[in-house]
Amino acid sequence: MNEKILEVLKKFWGYDTLRPLQESAIQSALNKQDSVVILPTGGGKSICYQIPAILSDGVTLVVSPLISLMKDQVDGLVALGIGAIRLDSSLSHSERRDSEKELIDKSIRIVYISPEKILSENFRNLLLEINPQAIVIDEAHCLSQWGHDFRPEYHKLGSLREIFPNIPFHAYTATATESVRNDIVDKLNLRNPNILIGNFDRPNLFYSIRQKNQLSHQILNLVMSHKNESGIIYCIRRKDVDDLNEFLRSNGISSMPYHAGMSNEERKEVQDAFRTDQCETIIATVAFGMGIDKSNIRYVVHAGMPKSIEHYQQETGRAGRDGLEAECTLFYSGGDSFVWKSILEKNSEEYNSDPIILENRLRLIGEMENYCRYRVCRHKTLVNYFGQNYEKENCGACDVCTEEREEVKEATLIARKILSCVLRLGERFGVSHLISVLRGENLKKIRELSHDKLSTFGILKEYPADTLKDWINQLVSNQFLEIQGGMYPIVKLNSKSHGILRQEIEVELFVSKSNPILDGKGETSQKSENWEGVHKDLFEELRLYRKTMSGIKNIAAFQIFSDATLRDLARVRPSDLNHLRMVYGIGEQKLKDYGEQVLKIIRDVCREKKIEMDRFETQRVPKPEKKSKSDSGISVTKQKAFELFEKGVPIDEIANELSRSHSTVLQYLSERLLNSDFPERISYLDEEEFRRIESAMKKVGRDRMKPVYLELNETVSYDKIRLAFALERGKNNESQISSK
Ligand code: ADP
Ligand code: ZN
Repeated sequence: MNEKILEVLKKFWGYDTLRPLQESAIQSALNKQDSVVILPTGGGKSICYQIPAILSDGVTLVVSPLISLMKDQVDGLVALGIGAIRLDSSLSHSERRDSEKELIDKSIRIVYISPEKILSENFRNLLLEINPQAIVIDEAHCLSQWGHDFRPEYHKLGSLREIFPNIPFHAYTATATESVRNDIVDKLNLRNPNILIGNFDRPNLFYSIRQKNQLSHQILNLVMSHKNESGIIYCIRRKDVDDLNEFLRSNGISSMPYHAGMSNEERKEVQDAFRTDQCETIIATVAFGMGIDKSNIRYVVHAGMPKSIEHYQQETGRAGRDGLEAECTLFYSGGDSFVWKSILEKNSEEYNSDPIILENRLRLIGEMENYCRYRVCRHKTLVNYFGQNYEKENCGACDVCTEEREEVKEATLIARKILSCVLRLGERFGVSHLISVLRGENLKKIRELSHDKLSTFGILKEYPADTLKDWINQLVSNQFLEIQGGMYPIVKLNSKSHGILRQEIEVELFVSKSNPILDGKGETSQKSENWEGVHKDLFEELRLYRKTMSGIKNIAAFQIFSDATLRDLARVRPSDLNHLRMVYGIGEQKLKDYGEQVLKIIRDVCREKKIEMDRFETQRVPKPEKKSKSDSGISVTKQKAFELFEKGVPIDEIANELSRSHSTVLQYLSERLLNSDFPERISYLDEEEFRRIESAMKKVGRDRMKPVYLELNETVSYDKIRLAFALERGKNNESQISSK
C-alpha cells in the first residue's frame, strides 16, 4: 500500500490500517478518476475523500446536504489539525468573509459547501479562482428520486460538470439500490467512474426483534442495561415520544425528546446535548436522523416497526459506527403495520392517491413486517435484501442465531392441521383469525361466519396463541405457506403446502427455549472481546474527562476520543507521550491537545489502583507502526535507539543514554525487529528462544505474559517474552492485511 496514505492516516487519525475498499477509493481519487463509493453507514466514507484531499495540491469541495453534518465534519477535521471550513447559508456576513479569506490562504484543504452555494452565481468566480482539485458529492442518493431522501436542490447538481469540466467527481452514499446508483452516474455525468460497493453487513451490530409486552418497561430495562452509554429510541408518533420520555424520566433516566413538533432552538439544544454526551438517551421520531454521525452510539431501539427495511437499516446503522459492539432492538407487534397503513391512508394527498405509489409503500411495509415475523438470521436477511450474499451459517449477533431452541415432536402433523385450516377458511383470512379458529375461540365473528362449524375449529386448542403465531411464521419463513395482500394480508397455500397436506413433505418446527443474551445471562463474544483487558474504573475516569472537554469546547465527544480509543487507553495504560502515540486513534493533534492531561489521569488511577502500565501486548487493535521509507515519520530518539540496537547495546544502557524508560526502549526494539530482516534479533532474542516462547504461547495462551513465563520455568526473561509477543502480534497483523 502507498506509504504516504498510511503516514497521513497515522499522523492525523492515529489509525494503522485502511479498511477494505477505502484503499481503492483513495487510489481512484489520487488517480483523478471519477468514482461512486457505496459503503454502509459507519463504513468509513469520509476518510476516503479526506486523505486524497490532504495528499493533493489544491482544495477539495465537498457538497453536503445538511448544515449540522457539515459543522460536525469541519469541527472533526480541525480537531485533527486539518485545514477545513464550510460555506453555507447559516454563516454570518463576517464569518463568510473570514472563510473566503481563509480559502485563498493555502492551508485550507477541504471546503464543505451546501448545494445552493456551489451553484450560486455569486460564488462562481470565487470557486473558479480557487480551482478545486476534486468535487465530492456526499449523501449522493439525495439527488435520486428513487432514493428515500430526495432533495430538489441536489437534483440540480447535474450542471456542475459543465462548470467544472476537467475536475474529477466522487459520489458517496450508503444507499445500495441499483436504480439509485445508476441515477447518480447519469445525473452527475460521471465519466467511466470506478464503482466501488462495500460489504453491507455490519457485524458489530446485534439485531433482535422482540414482541411488545409492557413496552415502556421493556425499554426501561434495556436503557438501564446501557448505563452511561449513548442510545436513540425511535417511536412512530410524536405522542409516543412524549409519553415514553415522561415515563423514563420518572424512572430516573435523564432522557430528552426530539420531534418535528419542537422549535428549532429546542431541537438544536437536544442535538448538542447528545453530541457532547451531556445527555445520553434520546427519544425521537425519525426526524432525528440524518446529520447524526456520532460514532459512540451503543444502542438503537425501535419502539415500533419502521416503515421499510431501508429505514430500519439506516436507523440501526447509526449505532456502532466506531466498529465496537452495539445493540439494535426492535419491539414489534402486529398492530405496527396497521399504524403505518392508517398514516398512509390519512396522508393520501402526499402521493396524490397514486395507486402505484400506494402499492409500493404497502409493499415496503409488508417486507418490513416479514423481516420481523420470520425467524431467519437478521444479518443474512439484511445483506440479502441489499443484493449481497451472506456466507456465515451463524452470525452470533442476532436473536435468531443466539436463541436456544427445541424441536417440536409432531411438527408435520401440527403443520398439516394449520394448513388444512387455511384451506377450510378458503384462503381468505388473516393470521389472527386463523389462530382464533385453530384455538377454538368463542368469538362473535367466528360464530357469524359459522367457522365454529369447521372440522378444524379448535384443532390446536392446547397451544397458546403466541406459539401458534411463531409456528405459522416458521412455516412462512420456509415457504410452506404465504402471506399476501396489501392493507389486510391473508394467509394462502402454495405448492409446497399441498405437498405437506398430501403427506409428501416433512417439516420441522421449533419452540424457543431461551436466549441467554437477550435474557441478560450472557454477553456476545464480541462484547467480551472488545472489553477484554479494559480497566473499567480508568475507562470511566477517561469517559468523564471526555465529557467535560466536550462540554467546554462544544465539540462532539466522539471527536475528542472515540469509544475504541478510550477502551484502548484504559487497556494499554500508556505511561508517557511516546507510548500514548501508539494507542489507536491518537494522532499528532490529539497528542498535543489532550496528551498531558490524559497521561495524568492514567498515571493517577494506575498508581492508586496499583495496576500495570504500558501493556501493549493487550492491545486489541492492529498496532505496531510501520517503518516508513523516508525516515521523516520517525523521531530522532527512536532513530538513535535503532542505531544502538544494531550494535547490540543492552536495553538498560540504551534507556539510560536516551533518557527513556526501559519499556519505551523495548517498544522501539519490537518495532525495529518487525520492520527489518532481524540481524539484531540474535543479541536480543535468538531464533531458538523465540520458538520456545511461541510454543509456550500455544500451550497457555497469548493473553498474558505471566503464564508463558511460568511455562518456561522462569528461564526466559520478561523482556524477551514481551518482544516475542510483539513479534507475534505483528505477524498476525501482517497476515490480516495481506489476506484482504
Ligand atoms: P460513514 O461516513 O461511512 O458513515 P465515517 O466516515 O463517519 O463513516 O467513519 C465511521 C468511523 O470509523 C469514524 O469514527 C472513523 O474515524 C472510523 N474509521 C474510518 N476509517 C477507519 C480506519 N481505516 N481505521 C479505523 N477507524 C476508521
Ligand atoms: Zn444471525
